[in-house]
Amino acid sequence: MTEIMDRDLASTPTVEQERRLVTAVPGPASQRLHARKLAAVSAGVGTMLPIYVERAAGGILVDVDGNHLIDFGSGIAVTNVGNAAPEVARRVTQQVGEFTHTCFMVTPYEAYVQVCEALNRLTPGRHEKRSALFNTGAEAVENAVKIARRFTGRDAVVVFDHGYHGRTNLTMAMTAKNMPYKDGFGPFASEIYRVPMSYPFREPAPISGEQAAARAITAIDKQVGINRTAAVVIEPIQGEGGFVVPAPGFLTAIAAWCAENGILFVADEVQTGFARTGAMFACEHEGIVPDMIITAKGIAGGLPLAAVTGRADIMDSVHGGGLGGTYGGNPVACAGALAAIDLIEGLDLVSAARRIESVMLARLQELAAAHPGIGDVRGRGAMLAIEIVKPGTRETTKEPDPAEAARISAACHQAGVVTLTCGTYGNVLRFLPPLVIPEHLLAEGLDILAGALAG
Ligand SMILES: *Cc1c(COP(=O)(O)O)cnc(C)c1O
Repeated sequence: MTEIMDRDLASTPTVEQERRLVTAVPGPASQRLHARKLAAVSAGVGTMLPIYVERAAGGILVDVDGNHLIDFGSGIAVTNVGNAAPEVARRVTQQVGEFTHTCFMVTPYEAYVQVCEALNRLTPGRHEKRSALFNTGAEAVENAVKIARRFTGRDAVVVFDHGYHGRTNLTMAMTAKNMPYKDGFGPFASEIYRVPMSYPFREPAPISGEQAAARAITAIDKQVGINRTAAVVIEPIQGEGGFVVPAPGFLTAIAAWCAENGILFVADEVQTGFARTGAMFACEHEGIVPDMIITAKGIAGGLPLAAVTGRADIMDSVHGGGLGGTYGGNPVACAGALAAIDLIEGLDLVSAARRIESVMLARLQELAAAHPGIGDVRGRGAMLAIEIVKPGTRETTKEPDPAEAARISAACHQAGVVTLTCGTYGNVLRFLPPLVIPEHLLAEGLDILAGALAG
């Protein structure tokens, strides 16, 4: 990439990169909108922090009251390249002016093919690949399952404790946590089996990644049946389940065992993908080459797009017309993806995620040393978390403290930092800043977190 292009890509965001609070959070204008939301929008659609956003760029969200908040959430790991990144905005705007939709299954267009070419090139492994595009992470997960069943002729799909794969009927079955994702929404799809994850902080006694893999493999062998299992679907670092990083060797052992037994190893990299963890894809940290990889969230700079990328023989085993959808790979979303991918590569956002890790992780570890309520600090790249436990239980029962996690998160919000919580026990504070966040905002956000922890 030329220097001129680099400068182009890095063009300055349109929003001043400063935290600034001019009202309480939420302010009066947000409160008025929220009253309308409550009257117009289903109560089932929750909002974590009801500030109504007017603009966003770089590491800042601006609300309708004029408050500038530091963004430690990236809309759940979506705006990796920054919000309304100028290059994304430019190419999406151009595409909207040219055509907005044809349906790729009716009359195709180049951008869809270009996105698939980019995915085939960027995902782990140098083997021949194919991709298919969809709208949401859950839809892509569903399609990966369809493809795996078609290719193997087997029905069973194995997922893991604490896993999250979406909210559609099939993916609800694959998602572990009942509240709020599943409660009252069943019956769920059949032939989904959950086995133990490697969750180092919550193992009753320390075990290696290989031992944790053996535990999961035994469960699959004895309770599901190797010959019945089409695929193992796993997040290399779990997202909603609590940013759980499995012990080293766990993923490699599972992947190797899958390969030996004709079971497809499917990586759900919807949250971990596109430079988020300090590698283009989290599988790379352990040198794993999945048979299929599912991507979404960070793929298109905020536009709705998702993909399944996999071995050509697997992806091409599906009969013509077996995959698709009206909007899958919409041209506007594809334009966003091509711009986002150029930004990730052109600005080296993999290195940016590593820099964020080095600043944030050191600070979080410092905070953990001072706060007995921080049970664990974990994650990779710009996907980091602290797990909050009742003080004094870190070395013993590790009793989750979701109320304290909620209090800390709310205190951050009041001070103008957008933080998210997650985890099976609701006690994990997660940090997902845009990879283009200016260093001074990262530092200031961490100062505010430190203040919130102190109470
Ligand atoms: C968010 C997420 C999904 C679901 O994606 P949607 O676009 O919300 O349907 C699936 N898997 C993982 C790991 C996710 O983080």
